[in-house]
Amino acid sequence: MSNQPDVIIIGTGVIGTATAFELAKLGYKTLSLDRNREIGHGSTAGSCAIIRMHYSTLDGTAFAWEGYHYWRDWQDYLGLPGNAELARFKECGCLVMKTEGNGYMEKHIEHSHALEIPIEEWDGEKIRQRLPIYSLDSYWPPKRMDQDGFGESNGSALAGAVFWPLAGYVTDPALSSQNLAAAARQHGADFRLGVTVTEILQDGGKLRGVRLADGEEIHAPVVVNVAGPGSSIVNRMAGVLDDMTIETRPLRQEVVHVPAPEGFDFEALGTIVSDSDIACYCRPERGNHILVGSEDPECDEHYWVETDESYPADFTDQWTTQAMRYAQRVPSLGIPNQMRGVVDLYDASTDWIPIYDKSMLDGFYMACGSSGNQYKNAPIAGKMMAALIDYCENGNDHDAQPLNFRLPYIDRDLDVGFFSRKRPINKESSFSVLG
Ligand SMILES: Cc1cc2nc3c(=O)[nH]c(=O)nc-3n(C[C@H](O)[C@H](O)[C@H](O)COP(=O)(O)OP(=O)(O)OC[C@H]3O[C@@H](n4cnc5c(N)ncnc54)[C@H](O)[C@@H]3O)c2cc1C
Repeated sequence: MSNQPDVIIIGTGVIGTATAFELAKLGYKTLSLDRNREIGHGSTAGSCAIIRMHYSTLDGTAFAWEGYHYWRDWQDYLGLPGNAELARFKECGCLVMKTEGNGYMEKHIEHSHALEIPIEEWDGEKIRQRLPIYSLDSYWPPKRMDQDGFGESNGSALAGAVFWPLAGYVTDPALSSQNLAAAARQHGADFRLGVTVTEILQDGGKLRGVRLADGEEIHAPVVVNVAGPGSSIVNRMAGVLDDMTIETRPLRQEVVHVPAPEGFDFEALGTIVSDSDIACYCRPERGNHILVGSEDPECDEHYWVETDESYPADFTDQWTTQAMRYAQRVPSLGIPNQMRGVVDLYDASTDWIPIYDKSMLDGFYMACGSSGNQYKNAPIAGKMMAALIDYCENGNDHDAQPLNFRLPYIDRDLDVGFFSRKRPINKESSFSVLG
């Protein structure tokens, strides 16, 4: 028997390990490679790991709704021994403020009704009952700290919110990747860490495998690019950029960690909140902390970086801006002198919708452009990538006849062409982390 893998997977983040798990279950001999020495220590480790089910497109919503079920049933999905330490899904719900900017959530409500996703509509009183630390003054449009009127209400109040009770977050995203890798190993998957892919090997236009930084060659007929914010570099190595309409780029992000106001147990009683009025999202964090991310308002310049291998790791004024924006909503919030939180990268795509696709090089596939919003979808993305690879490797032309993929939990078909690298830019997208 040859030791050569059937499939090389570049990246051991949550989507890379889910792809390994799903391919291994189909009987493919996979080898996952990562330059990090620990599984899940790319952008997955910095993720807020929010599992929500509202998206701006119907297909995006269906995909996320399907995705939720794997986190809910995590232990059964993995099939690991009962004593394995597992990441945990905390179902705290997700509240989304209705604003002019998000069309008062009408489209999202419609998608949720169409897919029978439980939702509740809350008025101001109900919001204050759940979150007594919240002020509902409106600050729209979001501003930078150096702009006139920062921190001043526009005099109106929020019009209410939509609540998705089943949403939640995963406590340890790196551990969830490690769980997926352990589950994949049970089906024969192999992992090599501390190795950097520097070349995609080809012979006369035919894919042969990869070369590592120390010159070692590993041969395989199939290679999958799940390199997270390093995806564009790997796609360039493979020479597959020419037919792509969607590009991917590393985008630097800061996430703020602040203690909840004294006297309110946000960890136990709080919820995820997406608040485009102040351009922040937040979720409970252990130790009664609140984690605050940005919803990328127009007034904030995007901080693109050249390479995922080195980028400034220190907090900037962006940290303070996000903390101050959140303090507009929670006036009793204390902002510590010492900045704490996360600096990491999104792999942002042109329309903030991911690419799950083949490429112009036969045997070379990509699961990338996750745009800060695909952690939640990792298990179903892995399953769909495995089905796509199987479809193409069995002689089907996915570009001409896109795979129709059944989402097993919600029993609904998805045209995988939705995620094509060659799609027209999707104008339905929010063009932000919200997808
Ligand atoms: C701050 C932040 C908050 C987020 N919050 C959420 C959220 O709340 N909800 C949500 O759904 N999503 C969220 N996301 C997005 C989510 O975390 C990502 O979509 C997901 O983790 C991407 O997983 P991945 O496996 O594609 O990539 P990664 O986890 O980035 O893994 C890629 C791996 O590839 C390796 N690699 C790259 N190049 C090479 C090479 N040449 N050779 C060898 N190895 C290589 C890297 O070392 C890395 O380990 C967030 C992201 C960030 C940064």
